Amino acid sequence: MAYEYDSENIFAKILRGEIPNSTVADSAHSLAFRDIAPAAPEHILVIPKGAYVNFDHFGADASDAEIVDFSRMIAKITREVGVAEISGGEGYRLITNAGAHGVQDVPHFHVHILGGRRLGRMISA
Ligand code: 5GP
Repeated sequence: MAYEYDSENIFAKILRGEIPNSTVADSAHSLAFRDIAPAAPEHILVIPKGAYVNFDHFGADASDAEIVDFSRMIAKITREVGVAEISGGEGYRLITNAGAHGVQDVPHFHVHILGGRRLGRMISA
């Protein structure tokens, strides 16, 4: 079974410049921007520029360069926005939702960076 990517999803439109975003970081293979409905004082989405549906797609099919770029961007942002303990913050959470059970709304792989307050238990429902 092959992954089916919907090129009309909202993050694909953001990548094509059809919808504005509040960019936090932009690199060769990845883009980070603020979530439109923040669930914490710091809520940033990091997405690959490639057409990947979710983590199992990205982890299996992305190039090493894409995976490294993506991972480094997340690490850089946690330090730059000040949630990483190494930069004086009090920590953060990374979330990636996949599919129906993961309650994924946008079918373009993304990682949520959440921080700026104590986040509570990992799963609330
Ligand atoms: P998911 O449930 O797929 O993991 O999360 C999708 C996230 O995308 C949600 O947190 C939602 O607030 C965010 N989102 C949806 N549409 C837009 C948009 O047009 N711009 C931005 N910046 N975030 C969006």
